[in-house]
Amino acid sequence: MSSNPTSRTKFLWGYSSAGRAVALQAKGHRFDPVYLHQTFMKRTWVDVKERPCDGCTKCCEGYLVTTILGVALNPGHPCKFIKKNVGCSVHLARPFDPCKMFQCHWKENTKIPEWLKPDKVNAILLLRSLEEFNYIRIVKAGLKQDPKIYLWAEEQSKNGRNIIAYDDLGKLLVYSQDEKFIELARKKL
Ligand code: SF4
Ligand code: SF4
Repeated sequence: MSSNPTSRTKFLWGYSSAGRAVALQAKGHRFDPVYLHQTFMKRTWVDVKERPCDGCTKCCEGYLVTTILGVALNPGHPCKFIKKNVGCSVHLARPFDPCKMFQCHWKENTKIPEWLKPDKVNAILLLRSLEEFNYIRIVKAGLKQDPKIYLWAEEQSKNGRNIIAYDDLGKLLVYSQDEKFIELARKKL
């Protein structure tokens, strides 16, 4: 990352690929315990206070791919234990991994604006790593994402953060000022 991000050109590009989107469904939108990944991350802008989900059930609705008690969760197939807009009907008995361990980045980091709550913007934020880089992955979680997320991502990139999103048509967007991260994202995501 540049030591002086403001002196760098901001890079932003997008491209569309149906095949790539399918591949990412299979491996990219995992409903897995982010803390396992974050063990190795610098958490310099993470304020681990934890917000309440408060009626949000986005991570149980199939936008993140996993298996719960032998049943697959994927787009169009939400968890059978979900009480939409209420919570989990088996809250105390829910599996440890991923259900008890998982937190989206909005929930775990109170520095993320309140308005980015997943059920308000139809998008789930995940903190991820790619080689030596940390980045925020914005996963679409509804019919239409709030377009404000793109403006927010662009602003964050000016502060040296790396953010990856997909628009509603499946186009990959990379917000970063770091050429190496951009190149890596283009090759590997
Ligand atoms: S997406 Fe985040 S806020 Fe929503 S239920 Fe899951 S952990 Fe809670
Ligand atoms: S078991 Fe509960 S917490 Fe886990 S995915 Fe299903 S509804 Fe969500």
